[in-house]
Amino acid sequence: MKNEKKKYVYFFGNGKAEGSADMKALLGGKGANLADMTGIGLPVPPGFTITTEACAYYDEHDGGHPEGLKSEVLENLHKLEKLQGAKLGDSKNPLLVSVRSGAAQSMPGMMDTVLNLGLNPDSLNALINKTGNERFAYDSYRRFIQMFGDVVMGVPHSEFERVLQSVKDENGKKFDTELDVDNLKEVIKRYKIVYKKYTGEEFPVDPEYQLFQTIDAVFRSWNNERAIKYRVMNDIRGLLGTAVNVQAMVFGNMGETSGTGVAFTRDPSSGENRFFGEYLMNAQGEDVVAGIRTPQAIDTLKKVNPKVYDQLCSIREKLEKHYHDMQDIEFTIQEGKLYMLQTRNGKRTIFSWIRSQVEMVESGLISKETAVSRVPAQEFNKLFAPILDNKVIRDLGYKEATHGLNASPGGACGQIYFTAKAAEEAAAEGKDVILVREETSPEDIGGMAVSRGVITCRGGMTSHAAVVARGMGCPCVSGCGEIVVNEIQKTLEVNGIKLIEGDYMAIDGFTGAVYTQKIAVKPSEIMQVLDGTMRESESLLYQNYKKFMNYVNDIKTMGVRTNADTPKDAHHAVLLGAEGIGLCRTEHMFFGGNRIIAMRKMILADTVGAREQALSELLPMQRDDFYQIFKELNGLPVTIRLLDPPLHEFLPNDSTTRHETALQLGISVEEIALKIAKLHEFNPMLGFRGCRLAVVYPEILNMQVRAIMEAAIKAKREGFKVHPEIMVPLVGIWKEFDFCRTKALAVIEKVFDEQGLKVEYKLGTMIEVPRAAITADEIAKEAEFFSFGTNDLTQMTCGFSRDDAASFLTHYVNDPDKQFYEYDPFATIDVGGVGKLVKLATDLGRSVRPDIKLGICGEHGGDPKTIAFCQEVGLDYVSCSPFRVPIARLAAAQAALLEKK
Ligand code: PEP
Ligand code: MG
Repeated sequence: MKNEKKKYVYFFGNGKAEGSADMKALLGGKGANLADMTGIGLPVPPGFTITTEACAYYDEHDGGHPEGLKSEVLENLHKLEKLQGAKLGDSKNPLLVSVRSGAAQSMPGMMDTVLNLGLNPDSLNALINKTGNERFAYDSYRRFIQMFGDVVMGVPHSEFERVLQSVKDENGKKFDTELDVDNLKEVIKRYKIVYKKYTGEEFPVDPEYQLFQTIDAVFRSWNNERAIKYRVMNDIRGLLGTAVNVQAMVFGNMGETSGTGVAFTRDPSSGENRFFGEYLMNAQGEDVVAGIRTPQAIDTLKKVNPKVYDQLCSIREKLEKHYHDMQDIEFTIQEGKLYMLQTRNGKRTIFSWIRSQVEMVESGLISKETAVSRVPAQEFNKLFAPILDNKVIRDLGYKEATHGLNASPGGACGQIYFTAKAAEEAAAEGKDVILVREETSPEDIGGMAVSRGVITCRGGMTSHAAVVARGMGCPCVSGCGEIVVNEIQKTLEVNGIKLIEGDYMAIDGFTGAVYTQKIAVKPSEIMQVLDGTMRESESLLYQNYKKFMNYVNDIKTMGVRTNADTPKDAHHAVLLGAEGIGLCRTEHMFFGGNRIIAMRKMILADTVGAREQALSELLPMQRDDFYQIFKELNGLPVTIRLLDPPLHEFLPNDSTTRHETALQLGISVEEIALKIAKLHEFNPMLGFRGCRLAVVYPEILNMQVRAIMEAAIKAKREGFKVHPEIMVPLVGIWKEFDFCRTKALAVIEKVFDEQGLKVEYKLGTMIEVPRAAITADEIAKEAEFFSFGTNDLTQMTCGFSRDDAASFLTHYVNDPDKQFYEYDPFATIDVGGVGKLVKLATDLGRSVRPDIKLGICGEHGGDPKTIAFCQEVGLDYVSCSPFRVPIARLAAAQAALLEKK
């Protein structure tokens, strides 16, 4: 077979193009769409695109070019010259070009562009002769020197800006457009001095030299700092590099009949189907977005140039019909004639996504599958969270005081308190509270529940604070290492700012920003409708959301359940579309009010009898909680996990509460201290917890199973449909499960007998210990379901503490030189390690019990990438925090679509 020479350059122009819209990986989004727009007859200035493969080669070979690239570029340049009837930088009839970057995924403003390339003193004169527009020619030249100097040679942009400003000041001019020919000549003279000062060279005159230097600079811009950061922030991976588009210049700076603009075919903020954009007459390139002059709204173009406006409107329509999505376009008007310079799928808010996609489905432009496949699942939670009023932040010029992890989305503002107790008291007085803690513990749950937001100084994305806050839908910024809290003095210090208890702080859980000002917060409309405080008919957002979620439900095949511990959480989750509870952590029911007293009594009990006595006080409370949950979930399955955490977490850890507890229980403080010492463990997460508690104290299991079954029967008697699923935590060996199951069955039979009524139920286990995954076939002989507890499974498989790993994991994940793990393994399942265990356990489980129910209930259950993995493995459902239920539903539908492909 003939060894075909690799093609690095693709031409477009005159209604024909070598590239096409589906070549984004090779030609970048801009290049592919320029080719495509040329093909569909839009007015696109001709040019050629150098492939991303050439950029990758340049990167890998220390700035070298692949063989033949230069001659291919020259060949295409000559083709362009022929088509335009002009020659690059010619002294008689000059062609000028733009050189612009464009990767496969859009990275707006991250890489570089040079316009007006080909100018030198000779071609400048020719341009003046040709256009008769001296001002325009000098303006183009000064822009070219500035861009080439900055982008290609690294001359600081500010140096050029300084020159421009001083010439304006010296001549009493406010705007660039007011500079006359003499002023511009002066600017150019001084620009050239700046250029020489920084580069040690004269400004280059050879057009081909200019071209190749610029192409290389655009290649290099793929790896500039902001481009790298943007890719990390937006999770853009696996691209080759940037393509380079060399295109005949059209000029928006030729006077008042010329201009340049950017527009969206729909509103990128709200999604409304209206033409949305801005333009500036007598302007070029970045002028519109750079804020030098205030651009005009696109509607006003109707008056300025009705012909061009109408043409733009029909292009708008044509583009949407062609691309089936909202487009973001760039255009230039040269002396009254319109040219299209770019089109790409528009970036937009999640609000705009929902509205635009629903309206496109309804108008028949796209299918509901297409709509569902496009909406970014990661953004979805922004629909639900209350929001900080960004307008206030902008208007008042507030700056963030520090930054932490965006652990739980939403905006919150309130007065700061440093203990859960103080937070509860302040909330009881009707204050909006922000709880600031070094790190939260389960005891803080009451304080968290009443807080508008939570800030912690330590802890990662699956730290207690983060998990609980997400569960509650409470905005949280965790791991704010720069905040120093002094709980005793009730003060905090952050970057030189000192605050005391009761001062205001605001957090943005979407971004991790922390402010030390009072900033207004607005609730999300969708939540208002779901809560019944706003009518559905009043909220267009809600109506669109509802339609969109109907598409989602039609497509997804996996179930989506929720991790909910209280009837209130369960209620919310069901409103958000949860199809059951996948994890009810019963321990969270033991805090608050009298429960913690009874719980402590139980832990401190010395005899089985005393323990049973304390448990009998807890029984009615647990039963009532379960009963409420069964009623709430009427007809949907409820997985209730038996007690899991180490017991020391329930005992008081400060001396005041120890004294209080001693009084309440009629024992000495020493006894409490002794018990705490006895329960102390070096590795509590690997200690006396999970089913080990039931093995040693079966009476705890007995009480919980009884409470579950009595509650289920009570609800059933009242006409509710109940599907309890009892789940044993932290099983590592089948005998543990067998032990717990036998005990549970005995209680269940007894309750059925006593009540004279039975309910259907399931008995299953969590798979969160690696040993359990490896021996899942042995466990599945008796377990009717598995729920993968991927928080512990990750902790134990990778050997990372889920509460403290953030300090080194950031290096493992975010450091571009390391990236040992592609994603934080506590947020996205580590497919190559933990995922293998999940797959193994799934296969082993099904080999023994083909109809075994399989789900996941670790934090990963709400993560779209993990959800795609779960679909692939074939789990029956995912379970996640109530507020992640909608994202999980969307991600499950997207995973189902991917599987179909
Ligand atoms: C888990 O380990 O994944 C789990 C869901 O349990 P918990 O987070 O309560 O330990
Ligand atoms: Mg666990």
